[in-house]
Amino acid sequence: MSIRHPIIAGNWKMNKTIREAQDYAGRLLGLLGETTEIDVVVCAPFTALSTLKDELEESVIHIGAQDLSFAGNGAYTGEISAAMLVDTACTYVIIGHSERRVILRETDEEIAKKVKAALKAGLTPILCVGENLAQREESKAFAIVRSQVEKDLPDLSPADLKRVVIAYEPIWAIGTGKSATSADAQEMCTMIRSTLAGIAGAVADEVNILYGGSVNADTIVELMAQPDVDGALVGGASLDPEGFAKLVLNA
Ligand code: PEP
Repeated sequence: MSIRHPIIAGNWKMNKTIREAQDYAGRLLGLLGETTEIDVVVCAPFTALSTLKDELEESVIHIGAQDLSFAGNGAYTGEISAAMLVDTACTYVIIGHSERRVILRETDEEIAKKVKAALKAGLTPILCVGENLAQREESKAFAIVRSQVEKDLPDLSPADLKRVVIAYEPIWAIGTGKSATSADAQEMCTMIRSTLAGIAGAVADEVNILYGGSVNADTIVELMAQPDVDGALVGGASLDPEGFAKLVLNA
Protein backbone atom coordinates (compact mmCIF):
# COMPACT_ATOMS: atom_id res chain seq x y z
CA MET A 1 0.00 0.00 0.00
CA SER A 2 1.50 3.29 -1.10
CA ILE A 3 1.84 6.05 1.48
CA ARG A 4 1.31 8.53 -1.34
CA HIS A 5 -2.05 9.85 -2.54
CA PRO A 6 -2.30 9.85 -6.37
CA ILE A 7 -2.60 13.15 -8.23
CA ILE A 8 -3.91 13.86 -11.72
CA ALA A 9 -3.20 17.45 -12.75
CA GLY A 10 -4.46 19.06 -15.94
CA ASN A 11 -2.36 21.77 -17.58
CA TRP A 12 -4.48 23.96 -19.83
CA LYS A 13 -1.41 25.92 -20.97
CA MET A 14 -2.47 29.13 -22.81
CA ASN A 15 -6.02 28.00 -23.47
CA LYS A 16 -9.53 28.98 -22.34
CA THR A 17 -11.28 32.28 -21.78
CA ILE A 18 -13.05 33.07 -18.51
CA ARG A 19 -16.39 31.89 -19.93
CA GLU A 20 -14.84 28.64 -21.19
CA ALA A 21 -13.21 28.06 -17.80
CA GLN A 22 -16.53 28.55 -16.03
CA ASP A 23 -18.29 26.11 -18.35
CA TYR A 24 -15.46 23.55 -17.96
CA ALA A 25 -15.54 23.74 -14.14
CA GLY A 26 -19.28 23.07 -14.00
CA ARG A 27 -19.04 20.13 -16.38
CA LEU A 28 -16.01 18.54 -14.68
CA LEU A 29 -17.63 18.83 -11.25
CA GLY A 30 -20.79 17.19 -12.56
CA LEU A 31 -18.76 14.30 -13.97
CA LEU A 32 -16.50 13.69 -10.96
CA GLY A 33 -19.17 14.03 -8.28
CA GLU A 34 -18.52 14.67 -4.62
CA THR A 35 -15.55 12.52 -3.86
CA THR A 36 -12.58 11.11 -5.65
CA GLU A 37 -9.86 8.67 -4.68
CA ILE A 38 -7.44 10.91 -6.51
CA ASP A 39 -6.43 14.54 -6.02
CA VAL A 40 -7.60 16.26 -9.19
CA VAL A 41 -5.97 19.58 -10.05
CA VAL A 42 -6.80 22.01 -12.83
CA CYS A 43 -3.88 24.34 -13.69
CA ALA A 44 -5.35 27.30 -15.52
CA PRO A 45 -4.10 30.60 -16.96
CA PHE A 46 -3.92 33.46 -14.41
CA THR A 47 -6.96 35.19 -15.96
CA ALA A 48 -9.23 32.20 -15.22
CA LEU A 49 -8.15 31.63 -11.61
CA SER A 50 -10.65 33.84 -9.81
CA THR A 51 -13.49 32.33 -11.87
CA LEU A 52 -12.28 28.87 -10.86
CA LYS A 53 -12.22 30.07 -7.25
CA ASP A 54 -15.92 30.96 -7.53
CA GLU A 55 -16.75 27.62 -9.16
CA LEU A 56 -14.46 25.16 -7.37
CA GLU A 57 -13.23 26.55 -4.04
CA GLU A 58 -15.42 24.33 -1.88
CA SER A 59 -15.20 21.31 -4.21
CA VAL A 60 -13.02 18.20 -4.56
CA ILE A 61 -11.19 19.77 -7.52
CA HIS A 62 -8.03 21.69 -6.63
CA ILE A 63 -6.98 24.87 -8.42
CA GLY A 64 -3.47 25.31 -9.77
CA ALA A 65 -1.50 27.99 -11.64
CA GLN A 66 1.14 27.43 -14.32
CA ASP A 67 3.90 29.71 -12.97
CA LEU A 68 4.64 32.29 -10.27
CA SER A 69 7.22 34.94 -9.48
CA PHE A 70 10.19 34.13 -7.25
CA ALA A 71 9.73 37.58 -5.69
CA GLY A 72 7.27 38.41 -2.93
CA ASN A 73 6.01 41.74 -4.33
CA GLY A 74 7.19 45.02 -5.81
CA ALA A 75 8.73 46.22 -9.07
CA TYR A 76 8.33 43.08 -11.23
CA THR A 77 6.06 44.25 -14.05
CA GLY A 78 3.90 41.45 -15.43
CA GLU A 79 4.70 38.97 -12.68
CA ILE A 80 2.26 37.20 -10.31
CA SER A 81 3.27 36.44 -6.73
CA ALA A 82 2.62 33.39 -4.58
CA ALA A 83 0.36 35.46 -2.29
CA MET A 84 -1.75 36.50 -5.30
CA LEU A 85 -2.20 32.83 -6.20
CA VAL A 86 -3.21 31.96 -2.64
CA ASP A 87 -5.73 34.81 -2.90
CA THR A 88 -7.44 33.01 -5.82
CA ALA A 89 -7.68 29.76 -3.81
CA CYS A 90 -4.80 28.15 -5.72
CA THR A 91 -3.18 25.32 -3.83
CA TYR A 92 -0.84 24.02 -6.58
CA VAL A 93 1.52 25.71 -9.03
CA ILE A 94 3.45 24.22 -11.95
CA ILE A 95 7.10 25.34 -11.90
CA GLY A 96 9.80 24.87 -14.54
CA HIS A 97 7.61 23.46 -17.31
CA SER A 98 9.81 22.66 -20.32
CA GLU A 99 7.95 25.21 -22.44
CA ARG A 100 9.13 27.89 -19.98
CA ARG A 101 12.64 26.43 -19.73
CA VAL A 102 13.04 26.25 -23.53
CA ILE A 103 10.97 29.13 -24.96
CA LEU A 104 11.35 31.61 -22.09
CA ARG A 105 14.88 30.52 -21.12
CA GLU A 106 13.98 29.92 -17.48
CA THR A 107 17.04 28.74 -15.55
CA ASP A 108 17.47 26.21 -12.74
CA GLU A 109 18.44 29.10 -10.42
CA GLU A 110 15.14 30.90 -11.09
CA ILE A 111 13.21 27.65 -10.79
CA ALA A 112 14.80 26.87 -7.42
CA LYS A 113 13.77 30.31 -6.15
CA LYS A 114 10.22 29.78 -7.43
CA VAL A 115 9.96 26.42 -5.62
CA LYS A 116 10.99 28.14 -2.37
CA ALA A 117 8.52 31.02 -2.93
CA ALA A 118 5.70 28.54 -3.49
CA LEU A 119 6.54 26.49 -0.39
CA LYS A 120 6.85 29.60 1.77
CA ALA A 121 3.31 30.63 0.76
CA GLY A 122 1.88 27.17 1.47
CA LEU A 123 1.44 26.23 -2.20
CA THR A 124 2.30 22.77 -3.55
CA PRO A 125 4.88 23.15 -6.33
CA ILE A 126 4.67 20.73 -9.26
CA LEU A 127 8.29 20.83 -10.41
CA CYS A 128 8.69 19.69 -14.04
CA VAL A 129 11.89 17.96 -15.14
CA GLY A 130 12.77 16.04 -18.29
CA GLU A 131 15.21 15.52 -21.12
CA ASN A 132 14.93 16.41 -24.81
CA LEU A 133 15.17 13.91 -27.66
CA ALA A 134 18.86 14.50 -28.42
CA GLN A 135 19.74 13.99 -24.76
CA ARG A 136 17.76 10.73 -24.66
CA GLU A 137 19.39 9.46 -27.86
CA GLU A 138 22.82 10.27 -26.41
CA SER A 139 21.93 8.29 -23.23
CA LYS A 140 22.11 11.48 -21.15
CA ALA A 141 18.50 11.42 -19.92
CA PHE A 142 19.28 10.18 -16.40
CA ALA A 143 22.14 12.63 -15.88
CA ILE A 144 20.03 15.58 -17.13
CA VAL A 145 17.04 14.77 -14.94
CA ARG A 146 19.20 14.06 -11.88
CA SER A 147 20.96 17.39 -12.31
CA GLN A 148 17.63 19.26 -12.66
CA VAL A 149 16.30 17.66 -9.47
CA GLU A 150 19.48 18.52 -7.55
CA LYS A 151 19.70 22.11 -8.85
CA ASP A 152 15.98 22.91 -8.52
CA LEU A 153 15.60 21.61 -4.96
CA PRO A 154 18.66 22.88 -3.07
CA ASP A 155 18.75 23.18 0.74
CA LEU A 156 15.18 22.05 1.38
CA SER A 157 14.31 20.55 4.74
CA PRO A 158 12.78 17.03 4.62
CA ALA A 159 9.48 18.63 5.74
CA ASP A 160 9.51 20.98 2.73
CA LEU A 161 10.71 18.33 0.28
CA LYS A 162 7.78 16.14 1.25
CA ARG A 163 5.43 18.89 0.00
CA VAL A 164 6.99 19.05 -3.47
CA VAL A 165 5.43 17.13 -6.37
CA ILE A 166 7.77 16.23 -9.22
CA ALA A 167 6.54 15.70 -12.78
CA TYR A 168 8.85 13.75 -15.07
CA GLU A 169 8.02 15.08 -18.52
CA PRO A 170 10.31 13.98 -21.36
CA ILE A 171 10.21 16.93 -23.78
CA TRP A 172 9.94 14.65 -26.81
CA ALA A 173 6.67 13.24 -25.43
CA ILE A 174 4.92 16.56 -24.72
CA GLY A 175 2.15 17.34 -27.16
CA THR A 176 3.55 14.86 -29.69
CA GLY A 177 1.27 11.88 -29.12
CA LYS A 178 4.48 9.87 -28.44
CA SER A 179 4.29 8.81 -24.81
CA ALA A 180 7.19 7.18 -22.98
CA THR A 181 6.49 3.53 -22.25
CA SER A 182 5.24 2.86 -18.75
CA ALA A 183 8.49 0.93 -18.11
CA ASP A 184 10.56 3.99 -19.14
CA ALA A 185 8.41 6.23 -16.94
CA GLN A 186 8.82 3.86 -13.99
CA GLU A 187 12.59 3.64 -14.49
CA MET A 188 13.00 7.43 -14.49
CA CYS A 189 10.62 7.94 -11.55
CA THR A 190 12.63 5.37 -9.55
CA MET A 191 15.83 7.24 -10.38
CA ILE A 192 14.23 10.54 -9.27
CA ARG A 193 13.14 8.93 -5.99
CA SER A 194 16.63 7.62 -5.31
CA THR A 195 18.07 11.08 -6.08
CA LEU A 196 15.63 12.52 -3.53
CA ALA A 197 16.66 9.85 -1.03
CA GLY A 198 20.28 10.96 -1.54
CA ILE A 199 19.26 14.56 -0.75
CA ALA A 200 16.88 13.97 2.16
CA GLY A 201 16.69 10.28 3.12
CA ALA A 202 13.53 8.34 3.87
CA VAL A 203 11.19 11.25 3.14
CA ALA A 204 11.73 10.47 -0.58
CA ASP A 205 9.16 7.69 -0.20
CA GLU A 206 6.52 10.29 0.59
CA VAL A 207 7.13 12.50 -2.47
CA ASN A 208 4.58 12.25 -5.29
CA ILE A 209 6.23 11.73 -8.67
CA LEU A 210 4.04 12.14 -11.75
CA TYR A 211 4.60 11.27 -15.39
CA GLY A 212 3.65 13.76 -18.13
CA GLY A 213 3.80 13.52 -21.92
CA SER A 214 0.84 12.62 -24.16
CA VAL A 215 -1.02 10.78 -21.40
CA ASN A 216 -4.59 9.85 -22.35
CA ALA A 217 -7.52 7.93 -20.87
CA ASP A 218 -6.08 4.64 -22.18
CA THR A 219 -2.37 5.03 -21.34
CA ILE A 220 -3.11 6.20 -17.79
CA VAL A 221 -4.14 2.68 -16.75
CA GLU A 222 -0.72 1.06 -17.26
CA LEU A 223 1.12 4.15 -16.00
CA MET A 224 -0.77 4.05 -12.71
CA ALA A 225 0.17 0.39 -12.26
CA GLN A 226 3.85 1.39 -11.95
CA PRO A 227 4.98 1.50 -8.31
CA ASP A 228 6.89 4.80 -8.57
CA VAL A 229 4.42 6.65 -10.81
CA ASP A 230 1.99 8.44 -8.50
CA GLY A 231 -0.14 10.14 -11.12
CA ALA A 232 0.09 12.30 -14.22
CA LEU A 233 0.44 15.85 -15.50
CA VAL A 234 -1.85 16.04 -18.51
CA GLY A 235 -1.82 18.71 -21.23
CA GLY A 236 -3.89 18.16 -24.37
CA ALA A 237 -6.11 15.45 -22.85
CA SER A 238 -7.16 17.79 -20.02
CA LEU A 239 -8.73 20.42 -22.28
CA ASP A 240 -12.06 18.66 -22.71
CA PRO A 241 -13.86 18.02 -19.39
CA GLU A 242 -15.47 14.77 -20.55
CA GLY A 243 -12.13 13.36 -21.75
CA PHE A 244 -10.32 14.54 -18.62
CA ALA A 245 -12.98 13.05 -16.32
CA LYS A 246 -12.67 9.72 -18.14
CA LEU A 247 -8.89 9.81 -17.68
CA VAL A 248 -9.29 10.55 -13.95
CA LEU A 249 -11.83 7.77 -13.50
CA ASN A 250 -9.55 5.30 -15.34
CA ALA A 251 -6.54 6.21 -13.17
C1 PEP B 1 2.23 19.13 -20.45
O1 PEP B 1 2.17 20.16 -21.09
O2 PEP B 1 2.59 19.17 -19.27
C2 PEP B 1 1.90 17.88 -21.12
C3 PEP B 1 2.20 16.77 -20.53
O3 PEP B 1 1.27 17.98 -22.34
P1 PEP B 1 0.62 16.76 -23.20
O4 PEP B 1 -0.16 15.91 -22.26
O5 PEP B 1 -0.24 17.46 -24.21
O6 PEP B 1 1.76 16.02 -23.81
